[in-house]
Amino acid sequence: MNGLRRVALAIVLAAAATAGMAAQRPNELRTTPPQRNPLQANQGTPVQSNDPWAAPRHDMVELQIRERGVHQPEVLRAMEAVPRHLFIPEEHRDQAYSDAPQPIGWGQTISQPYIVALMTELLELRPGDKVLEIGTGSGYHAAVLSRVAGEVYSIEILDPLGKQAKSTLRQLGYDNVHVKVGDGYQGWPDEQPFDAIILTAAPPKIPQPLVDQLKVGGRMVVPVGSFVQDLMLLTKTSRGIERRTVAPVRFVPMTGEVQRTKPDG
Ligand code: SAH
Repeated sequence: MNGLRRVALAIVLAAAATAGMAAQRPNELRTTPPQRNPLQANQGTPVQSNDPWAAPRHDMVELQIRERGVHQPEVLRAMEAVPRHLFIPEEHRDQAYSDAPQPIGWGQTISQPYIVALMTELLELRPGDKVLEIGTGSGYHAAVLSRVAGEVYSIEILDPLGKQAKSTLRQLGYDNVHVKVGDGYQGWPDEQPFDAIILTAAPPKIPQPLVDQLKVGGRMVVPVGSFVQDLMLLTKTSRGIERRTVAPVRFVPMTGEVQRTKPDG
């Protein structure tokens, strides 16, 4: 870790300690919220829709995502289009477009909107791309990916979450998302290779079967580590794997086989 990142992480941890980090949920990259007045966010950009959630969703895209530097038009359009509130349990729905992760049951969380957008942008998806997601959760991120890529294959280890996500995605018409229940450690051998792979649960180290299922030229985004993780971007080239650390993040842990593998093995 270089000096700057160490300082940044220390600030994040200090801020978290004073804010009572123990009570906070994972999946949150702690960045300073934008300073604009949210009430003015829609000025000059009328939202033409009868959907009462369209205005908060538009504000989410402008204030939480575009202002923090995510600019790929396809990603912004997808974040604007996918009804995040319909992936969140009713008791938390009023918080659907707030700048935070939300609980989705069984101890899991749907990531903060900015993190969903950032990870999606890092994948540099093109319309026909085939994407593998490990950690379907609510199905929200899969739905976002499906608006930017061609086909999305998503694996969820918890049976009730996987079933619920399947049903939500079917009801909303996301026909190019394919969900299966199981441990994502071994990937989806029948559908490999993938143009992009994304993990939304954090492994202590990157599962080799997933690297093997990535096409040459493909990209993988993965939070690696335990309590605080590094969001890593891997690119598979003909010469090998290039790695870049993007930011410190906090996701729920990847469970299953990865927890039984040796740290160095
Ligand atoms: N992408 C989700 C959020 C995922 S939270 C969304 O948009 O809602 C991380 C998810 O990864 C959890 O649902 C958790 O059960 C799942 N998970 C953890 N370990 C896994 C594994 N080995 N294989 C597949 N899913 C896993």
